[in-house]
Amino acid sequence: MPEGTICNKRPVATREDLDALLADSNGKKYYAEMEQLDVDAEKLWATIQKTMKSRTKTWLDICAHCGLCADSCFLYSVNGRDPKQVPSYKIQSTLGEIVKKKGNVTNEFMRMCMDTAWSKCTCCNRCGSFCPYGIDMGVMFGYLRGLLHSQGFVPWELKIGSGMHRLFRAQMDVTVEEFVDTCEWMVDEALEEWPCLEIPVDKEDADIVYMINAREAKHYPEDIVEAAILFHVAGENWTMPSEGWEMTSLSMFAGDWEACKMQVETVYGAMERLRPKRMVATECGHAYRATVIEGPYWAGRPDGQPPVECLHYVEWVAEALETGKLKIDPAKRIKEPVTLQDSCNYVRNAGLRDCGRIIMKHIAEDFREMSPNKEHNYCCGGGGGFNGIGRYRKQRNVALKMKREQILATGAKFVIAPCHNCWDAIRDLEEEFEIGIRWSFLKPLLIKMLVVPEHLLPQE
Ligand code: SF4
Ligand code: SF4
Ligand code: SF4
Repeated sequence: MPEGTICNKRPVATREDLDALLADSNGKKYYAEMEQLDVDAEKLWATIQKTMKSRTKTWLDICAHCGLCADSCFLYSVNGRDPKQVPSYKIQSTLGEIVKKKGNVTNEFMRMCMDTAWSKCTCCNRCGSFCPYGIDMGVMFGYLRGLLHSQGFVPWELKIGSGMHRLFRAQMDVTVEEFVDTCEWMVDEALEEWPCLEIPVDKEDADIVYMINAREAKHYPEDIVEAAILFHVAGENWTMPSEGWEMTSLSMFAGDWEACKMQVETVYGAMERLRPKRMVATECGHAYRATVIEGPYWAGRPDGQPPVECLHYVEWVAEALETGKLKIDPAKRIKEPVTLQDSCNYVRNAGLRDCGRIIMKHIAEDFREMSPNKEHNYCCGGGGGFNGIGRYRKQRNVALKMKREQILATGAKFVIAPCHNCWDAIRDLEEEFEIGIRWSFLKPLLIKMLVVPEHLLPQE
């Protein structure tokens, strides 16, 4: 059976491929073509034999079907404790079956696997900490997504997203020139209020290289200038690379392993070219995961580490507040009850639980913890690409209910979310359920509360 013109096993290779996908409103033609897509069983089995780690194989074999992981999964809870949402069931009925059948599965089965992998698991890794054997469905679904991608069964938005990475080394079509221009005009606009403000591009041997999420360059350039203001006030010697500034990886959500490698190698290339002492990542959970946790393996780095020490934004802020590089005006601290969204990607998966608490101690008078919190916090409801896939919007909205309940239980009407994906999910949660909350990244809040040294203020 022929492959579709836009839904096929070939990754995006040209601007024309990408434009053809973008022209397909809501992926209507794409999903229609997917119904006809052949499963190449031989290739699928060969891929499994070549790529399946012994840990994954062992996990599939040793699962005792005890169901202890059920309540750990927020999707099980918000879907009326549906047995089909038990983590072990979700993976055994998909990846487990593909392996058992040595890749001999039908098109219909692969489409069911796609729907499960992208709408019944956000790869939040929570279940892994509750299973007595440590079986982690986030890891297993990440692997399944890769197999599905290799056969062309991937949601339309994510084929586009990983295609963007392949063509532009960014999840959005932002060229080097556009990025550098954006930095320049954003600084120009801020100069009146912040004289001497700079976004130093391609400075070698700086203390910090700052890297971001492409959405900031494309849609929220004020976020870049806010970061610049905070580095300026903190007196940091910093820079941004003209190439390799984009840390996110929609290809990770898509399971496009080849594009993951291409993207992270561009980021590491910038680190090697500019030789900063440290890299600071913007307020994005999955960008940190892609660059700092998964990236070294995609890039085949022998020490399993990125080329330079890497900090998430919450680490830099906590350090700057504790060392006095940034000072908060006590009169401007947040007075109302406020809560904090712990991102799975850098709290559960990278152990940065204390940074958020240190920051709250400096900026908030009535900080309310969600329950559970820190490494046990629930996913916001939109992780792993779930936020951005139109086909699963109904399921994603149901998934937001756990976060809604957690926030409501704190009594706070203000949520700090230092992660793009979590920020989006909390915004959508308010749109969907109208519970009367506000939400924010850290940067704009910090700027409002800072004590600014006299010499950095505009002179009359
Ligand atoms: S808790 Fe672990 S062993 Fe028990 S069903 Fe879940 S994945 Fe399997
Ligand atoms: S990784 Fe998260 S969403 Fe996926 S099955 Fe486990 S708990 Fe559920
Ligand atoms: S979006 Fe946020 S809370 Fe959800 S999985 Fe990603 S990091 Fe975790």
